[in-house]
Order: sequence, then structure tokens, then C-alpha cells
Amino acid sequence: MIYDKNNVFAKIIRGEIPCNKVYEDEDLIAFHDINPAAPIHILALPKKSSINYSDFITSSSSAEISRFFTKVNQIAMSNTQDFRLVTNCGIESGQSVFHFHVHILGGKKFKDL
Ligand code: AMP
Repeated sequence: MIYDKNNVFAKIIRGEIPCNKVYEDEDLIAFHDINPAAPIHILALPKKSSINYSDFITSSSSAEISRFFTKVNQIAMSNTQDFRLVTNCGIESGQSVFHFHVHILGGKKFKDL
């Protein structure tokens, strides 16, 4: 699969469509999911173009990966106490937007996996 520059998250990163922003810096943007699956449902994504988790991991340095997940933790902890992190990787997993993102879910008791 080739990265599609016109996917919805690429457009949000470029400011072409709005989002309900939680946090932004030069590398990362986080915003509320438009169709929340929990009382707290934030999407966090690196701005660099990668299709999914596997693509991000294989195309990033250890420092970039560490910086991203450290910030994801900070965003999660600033918004909720307990949380679940989800990333769908590939069509079969349920991925629907092909720009790597992590779902931060909280504010309710989740069923066991
Ligand atoms: P996934 O299915 O793991 O690729 O997750 C994609 C998520 O993006 C879904 O939970 C959607 O509800 C969410 N989503 C799609 N479009 C938007 C948008 N414009 N703003 C915020 N969230 C969105």
C-alpha cells in the first residue's frame, strides 16, 4: 500500500479540515475522535507520513518512536486516569484511516480482551 496524501488525517495535519484538538506540537497532533467509542476517545498521531504502526516503527528512529509514545502517555495521563491504547494495523484489524494513529480510550470500565 502507498501512503495516500489525501487521507483525512493528512488533511487535519495540514489544517485543511477542522478537528477538536487536544494537543499539537511540531511532531504530533492529538484530537477527539469524531465517533467516540468511550467517554474519552482521543486520537494521537505523528505528523510524519506513515500508513500504520508497522510502517511507523520500521521507518522511524528509536528516538522518534520513544518521543511519540512518551507524548502519547502524557496526553493520556492529562485526560484520564486509566486508559486503553489501541492501534489498528491493516484492513483486517479494522483500520479505516491509513495514517498511523493511536486511540486513547478512557472514562469507562472496559470488557476484558
Ligand atoms: P481506525 O479505524 O483505527 O483507522 O480509526 C479511525 C478513527 O478515525 C475512527 O475511530 C473514526 O471515528 C475517526 N475519524 C475519522 N474521521 C475523523 C475526523 N474527521 N475527525 C476525528 N476523528 C475521525
